[in-house]
Amino acid sequence: MMRLAKKEAIRYALVGGMLVAGLALMALKAILPPDERRIDAIIVHCTATPLGMKVTIDDIDRWHKARGWKGIGYHYVVDLDGTVYRGRTDDCVGAHCRGHNAHSIGVCYVGGLDVHGRPADTRTTEQKEALLQLMTVLKKRYPNAKVYSHKRFTNKACPCFDAEREYSGL
Ligand SMILES: [Zn+2]
Repeated sequence: MMRLAKKEAIRYALVGGMLVAGLALMALKAILPPDERRIDAIIVHCTATPLGMKVTIDDIDRWHKARGWKGIGYHYVVDLDGTVYRGRTDDCVGAHCRGHNAHSIGVCYVGGLDVHGRPADTRTTEQKEALLQLMTVLKKRYPNAKVYSHKRFTNKACPCFDAEREYSGL
């Protein structure tokens, strides 16, 4: 008898503890802002720099700071050699597409202009491969997100290739 009573007491204590923990969690969720952005767009850009010109993420960071932003506005930058750099973490709102930053990820490759400064698909083979891999990962991470070329939202040529068509199969 003694043993049973003890078991019952433990059971009620556990249930009570879980209730308290549950209520505490609900209260916490009510006061904390949502920690994840709802990503519904992956927007592709170019740096609009001439063919072959080396651009580092530090350069972009400086350019964007000069525009008054808190730093590099893209989430990912694909270098000429196919290296993918992180600009901002996914949970941070980017600064790359006016009116569409809150719910998007910004991807940028280095290039986009020919030697005369005209819009051109200057992507190296390495960049094409890295972009495809990056876009594949991002589409898996955000299955409901659509891929957009920046030019859909602006009168610029950015990213100087049809990203929407190229990644439509992902
Ligand atoms: Zn752009």
